[in-house]
Amino acid sequence: MTAKTMLAARLRAVGEPLTIEAIAAPAPGPDEILVAVAACGLCGTDIHLAVEGDIPVARKPITLGHEAAGTVVALGPGTGGFAVGQRVALFPSAICGKCRFCRAGRESLCEASQVYGMSRDGALAQYVAAPAIGAIPIPDGVDFLTAAIITDGVSTPFHALRTRGRLQAGEAVAVVGCGGLGAHAILLARMMGAGFIAAIDMQPEARARAAEFGADLVIDPVAEPDPVRPIRRRLGRGVDLALEFVGLPQTVEATLRCLDTGGRAVVVGVGPGRPVLPPLISFVGREQTLMGSFGMDKRDISDLFDLVMRGRLDLSRSVSGTYPLAGVNEALGRLARRDTGVVRLVIEPGQ
Ligand SMILES: [Zn+2]
Ligand SMILES: [Zn+2]
Repeated sequence: MTAKTMLAARLRAVGEPLTIEAIAAPAPGPDEILVAVAACGLCGTDIHLAVEGDIPVARKPITLGHEAAGTVVALGPGTGGFAVGQRVALFPSAICGKCRFCRAGRESLCEASQVYGMSRDGALAQYVAAPAIGAIPIPDGVDFLTAAIITDGVSTPFHALRTRGRLQAGEAVAVVGCGGLGAHAILLARMMGAGFIAAIDMQPEARARAAEFGADLVIDPVAEPDPVRPIRRRLGRGVDLALEFVGLPQTVEATLRCLDTGGRAVVVGVGPGRPVLPPLISFVGREQTLMGSFGMDKRDISDLFDLVMRGRLDLSRSVSGTYPLAGVNEALGRLARRDTGVVRLVIEPGQ
């Protein structure tokens, strides 16, 4: 038995606090499950949606929140693989499970994807209805807070490193932009056996955290506008794999400059800018690669759950604060101020 009404954090107007409202609890439709949300992470996307307004939402009001973990409390028709009481995390968008990308396990590219809190009501609420195809069982030994941040904050850099960047043990890596995603990229690259990790960030706190998470070399791009120089001094060459988490033309260009001959650059940061490629004589002649990496696939999330469960990956430093639903605006404020002590913040709507 679930409640008829629930509390939800809703976006009514960009730049104004989210309103905590009592609204009708959703009912699971065909192929959907109803999840009682235990934890929902916040990220930079929520700032774009709620504070800056540069990513539009499909309608207002809308319940935000796309990094959810909780317990199945009701099943719609056709959800036989799941059971009431099961702990699940949700892929950050409602995926179709039927398009050519979903069928190939490339859910990041689902052609009918509806992001929670953007195209449909999200998980900053006591309950969320979700297609069962996007629900990922959480193993025992992985808590809800960790599961919630894995769905986006950890799986996005994992997808960039593994699925797109194809990091090999022993390779040299550079990470440009060491906020929540970049910090986790460093932690994951180290776990995956990177031989050398350079971290580039303007913020001293972010550089200190990068070193703590496993970077061998931290670079202040204000003091060293050409980051490849300190990398070359230390390594004698550029890196094999460089990841960009900022989304500005100049940071993408700096990422490309970090590459060795044969190197791969993976851009995760998004924005309207248009970076300039290196001269073709060098980009082509040195067989360099530039690629985008968008979100994650379901397999990235479930593999990370296994890595945490087996003690291979320690995310104990990743949650910088938890808040009840009523504290959501305080948490968003910390993110919007770019409070540099923050890796990830998580809302617990059940508290
Ligand atoms: Zn997110
Ligand atoms: Zn699809």
